[in-house]
Amino acid sequence: MKTGIFICHCGHNIKHTVDIKRLKEYFKHYFNVEVAEDYPFVCSEPGQDMIKNNVETHRLDRVIIASCTPALHQELFKDLVKKAGMNPFLLRRVSIREHCSWIGDNIEKNTEKAIKLIKAGLYASVHYIPLEEKQVDVTKSALVIGGGVSGLSAALFLSQMGMQVYLVEKEAELGGHVRNLKNIWPARIDGKEIVERMASALLQRDNVEIFTSTTIRSFEGSFGNYQAALDTLEGEKKIIAGGVIVAIGFSPFNAQLKPEFAYGKDERILTTLDFEKGFDRLTLPEKPRIAILYCVGSRDEMIGKPYCSRVCCINALRVAEKVKERYKDSYVESFYMDVRAHPRGGEEYFEDTQEKGVLFTRGNIAEIIPESRGLLLRGEDTLLTMPFEREFDLAVLSIGMSPPLDNQYIASLLKIILDKDKFFLEAHPKIRPYDTALKGIFIAGTCSGPKDIEESINHGRASAIKLYGLLNLGYTFVEPFIALVDTKRCSGCRACEQTCVAKAIKFDESRRVAHVEEAACMGCGLCNSTCPSSAISLKGHLDSYIGDEIGAILEAI
Ligand code: SF4
Ligand code: SF4
Repeated sequence: MKTGIFICHCGHNIKHTVDIKRLKEYFKHYFNVEVAEDYPFVCSEPGQDMIKNNVETHRLDRVIIASCTPALHQELFKDLVKKAGMNPFLLRRVSIREHCSWIGDNIEKNTEKAIKLIKAGLYASVHYIPLEEKQVDVTKSALVIGGGVSGLSAALFLSQMGMQVYLVEKEAELGGHVRNLKNIWPARIDGKEIVERMASALLQRDNVEIFTSTTIRSFEGSFGNYQAALDTLEGEKKIIAGGVIVAIGFSPFNAQLKPEFAYGKDERILTTLDFEKGFDRLTLPEKPRIAILYCVGSRDEMIGKPYCSRVCCINALRVAEKVKERYKDSYVESFYMDVRAHPRGGEEYFEDTQEKGVLFTRGNIAEIIPESRGLLLRGEDTLLTMPFEREFDLAVLSIGMSPPLDNQYIASLLKIILDKDKFFLEAHPKIRPYDTALKGIFIAGTCSGPKDIEESINHGRASAIKLYGLLNLGYTFVEPFIALVDTKRCSGCRACEQTCVAKAIKFDESRRVAHVEEAACMGCGLCNSTCPSSAISLKGHLDSYIGDEIGAILEAI
């Protein structure tokens, strides 16, 4: 066995708190080690060349890269050793940055720890065997759940890329909430126009089947081959899809959950959605007095809505603008925590609204009391720290976004997870914001948290691109790190089946044993640690490797 160890300085990140020279000297003559080198940035082109040349020159059959976390650059280094003629699954990454140099600045201790971590990698790598990624067939079709703007955008992209698309919408019409919005800022067009433009593009395509007034009755299968039964107006319809995009939108916050605002008890108290629908028919006195309350149902721990809904500040500005356009002499006062007019041009819009004479008071409204001559608002000015009472003719509550009503049903049907606020949880907020934990199931739009229209459309398209990337060839490669069931040891208890979030474990009723669907397995190892009979192992992470790693760290070897 010939192992190469390559130690990265990561600029000053590792070098400043780990004695690289000592590390290199320590491993230079270690068993199985053919070469030990260091480099300022092993991920740079010269750093990569140095590794590649060493693999080729020394004919290495194991490579240990001691650098940043394996979560970074893993594919880059795998490709690199592969190009140099080595099986990429014989590569071992050791994190001496996140797990070592970034933790403390004691060079002695860090260097000792780095030695142990590299040793652990070295001992484990002795057991490695060459593995191959496996090719599996997938169905080139997608199920898009939800016909709002993000679902429409996802469906349109996938169909334009030649994929069969099934779009399911529970309402009779496509378009979700956007359909009812007028004069949307900043495009200044009606939502109906946006929706109809997208829907008509979709209707012209012959690889799209749209099911409105339809719900999903059942959902089975695994990545590449999901089966859904739909309840349509014409009866049950079964479809097969390689992947799914969940785009079921949001529910408007129910303002009655804030009883102090008396919503529903007096017709002079409206939400922004009511205002949107009814403003043209609204009759107000001459020189009307309008109060606009920001953040209703958002940033409110007391009612379990701690998040910002991202669109209600702009919606509130739109209300103020509309009132001022129709009633020049109106008195419009906005009560806000802080104005988050975050989309591009939002701050300028906020300034324009102020210039039109809209007043902004940083304050908390404690209650709205409907009286015959007007609505009495009681609250506190949080800048002056003074209580106040003011009378208005109309109060508009700028309501936020709540999770979609069907969230629990869809989550349990698809076996995907909700976050603490009950929106759908992404696999990672920064690195994988479109994925769920299940391979081939993506989320799009506001069902994963508040977004504006532009973001929702882009989110839908981004999820579609990711799904297309997985399915477009009709086959995919799966990493070899998958679970294997030793059927001789399996007692048929089915504990693993319950544990597997990927639904990759199926139970063979005739043989009374579990088996793993390779395409669906994510290699998470949950089943491995759950099985009471130790019947499951994870390729590439066998217990023997892990035992030796632990032994090296404890200096028991
Ligand atoms: S948990 Fe283990 S013993 Fe039980 S069914 Fe799964 S593989 Fe078999
Ligand atoms: S490793 Fe086991 S629990 Fe994890 S996805 Fe694969 S089969 Fe499911």
